[in-house]
Amino acid sequence: MRVLRASKPWGMIEVCLLAILVALVKLSGFLHVVAGIGIAAIVALAPLMAVITNRNAGDLWPLYEANNDLRFQAALAPWPAHLVACDLCGMAHQAAAAEGGAAIACARCGSEVHARKPDSIMRTRAFLLAALVLYIPANVLPVMYTRLLGSEAQSTILEGVEEFWRSGSWDIAVLIFTASVAVPCTKFLAIALLLLDQKFPIGSRVGKTRLLKLVEHIGYWSMLDVLVVALVTALIQFRALGIAEPRSGIVFFGAVVVLTMLAAMSFDSRLAWKRQVGRG
Ligand SMILES: [Zn+2]
Repeated sequence: MRVLRASKPWGMIEVCLLAILVALVKLSGFLHVVAGIGIAAIVALAPLMAVITNRNAGDLWPLYEANNDLRFQAALAPWPAHLVACDLCGMAHQAAAAEGGAAIACARCGSEVHARKPDSIMRTRAFLLAALVLYIPANVLPVMYTRLLGSEAQSTILEGVEEFWRSGSWDIAVLIFTASVAVPCTKFLAIALLLLDQKFPIGSRVGKTRLLKLVEHIGYWSMLDVLVVALVTALIQFRALGIAEPRSGIVFFGAVVVLTMLAAMSFDSRLAWKRQVGRG
């Protein structure tokens, strides 16, 4: 159950599918490309995987309890005491036990229960700052090098977008621009706003909840360009005729995406709703 929970944000088959399509368009510019039957399999697999990964695994806990003849209720406090939910399995515990720094072990799943994620703000800040710093080399350094029939070219992310635009694939250009520029910038802004909200309360709870959901859902789409570069450089290996190689910019860009995802994960959503309760 822990592995299931931890791996959930990193499953990105939809992004992979999109990256395959973008790579096909990119390659079809100078090669004769025919989509194989595997593409059809991936197209069918993507929505199925999305259904599986988005399924609420919390339903499995009662099954586990039933099959093992267990009933976990000991941790429940008499109503209406303050309760704290376990991050992993959602089981409620007495807030008094989880507050004040010392974490308690969840009675059901054994993971640590905190009233608030420890050092949530500091971690989020650190990840965000690191992501912002790396975003500069990610955009300035080239992400891919290509040599085809003697002509060499290196391109940064934005130059790649421009290339698609000029070659007439404006839809792909918009797609890559959205995934590589608009999405990361939106994430930077949203996380910064949520952090700022801790010092200077802004916006409604509903607004903040929507912002958190947005950050969670758009995060990994930025991986698109990383996957496209990986696919294209793996496929164009024709020695004398032409090669494509990844360049350092894409490593920085991948790191930015991972760091913004970590920043969003470290942010304790409970901070956005109840600032006055518990440690913040
Ligand atoms: Zn638990």
